[in-house]
Amino acid sequence: MGGGGKNSGKRRSRPYVAPMSEDTAPLTRALDAVAAAAGRVASARLAGGIASLVLDATALSAHERGALEADIRDALARVPEVTEVRIAQTAEKVERTIVAVGSGKGGVGKSTVAANLAVALARAGRKVGLVDADIYGPSQPRIMGNADRPEMADKQIVPVAAHGVRLLSIGQLVEPGAALAWRGPMAASALGQLIEGDWGDAEMLVVDLPPGTGDIQLSLIQKWKPAGAVIVSTPQDLALIDATRAIDLFRKMNVPILGLIENMAGYACPHCGEVSDPFGSGGAEAAAKVLSIPFLGRIPLTMAIRAASDAGEPPAAGEGEEAALFRDIAGRLMERLGPS
Ligand code: ADP
Repeated sequence: MGGGGKNSGKRRSRPYVAPMSEDTAPLTRALDAVAAAAGRVASARLAGGIASLVLDATALSAHERGALEADIRDALARVPEVTEVRIAQTAEKVERTIVAVGSGKGGVGKSTVAANLAVALARAGRKVGLVDADIYGPSQPRIMGNADRPEMADKQIVPVAAHGVRLLSIGQLVEPGAALAWRGPMAASALGQLIEGDWGDAEMLVVDLPPGTGDIQLSLIQKWKPAGAVIVSTPQDLALIDATRAIDLFRKMNVPILGLIENMAGYACPHCGEVSDPFGSGGAEAAAKVLSIPFLGRIPLTMAIRAASDAGEPPAAGEGEEAALFRDIAGRLMERLGPS
């Protein structure tokens, strides 16, 4: 798998070292009592009443880093041998697996699928962030049912939480419609703020791209090197032709295509139960075969999916048939990505 997830969330715990032979027992005793410090103290020494600590803060959010330091200062304030506490924090950069979710054109359900995929991946045990980079119509706060404004910590935006997933959206940063006129550099800088947000120990970012093949796609590919792309299409020919263009872009730029998802396939009438195919059915699976890319699965057109999305309750978070569909698709995606 392309570069992602190698050291995500993992850290080495090093033993305390005490280069000066002043008795560090009171120090280590106090640190042992701080639960959050377990495995985080890279070194601790006590000299002339000054406790000097180096903490390994890898994969902690800014909030968690602050809380860890406060807990330790609290504990050490009660140690009579300690008159001053000096703390330095180091962190290894967390490599995250970026999965881009794209489509050839708008309205095919790309955002709906991205949200449900993120929720299904989280339910399967992955630590997932969802990045709504669709400058033309950021809809994830609505689909995920959390319209809170994110806070800032250490110049990073802190994602909000929804259905077991962390979420950042362009829609949380600007008023509706404000991003429409953005050209390359502005769009790229907004994308940067989202991707470089305070994702803590998230090991995977699902990025909901704008439809088509524009500036956001190019900056994501060039600067953040996604592990792969998932393409969403409806089954009809026209949508598939557009989808093929999106696939071409990723292929040309050496981003592996993780697979194609067919959305809005087959409509079961809520009254008589008869299944009809407003957009045809099976077109995407056939196209995937022709294009030699994996087919990840098919999502029907249902009232339940539309209503749940509007209500901020992604079906993947529930227990219905749709949840099972998204679980299976997430499973196939994880197989393609390899172990975390
Ligand atoms: P895109 O991101 O491709 O523009 P959206 O995810 O915003 O598309 O979906 C467009 C509309 O279609 C939304 O109202 C959404 O609720 C609805 N929708 C998406 N997928 C389905 C589906 N499988 N069944 C019913 N409605 C759907």
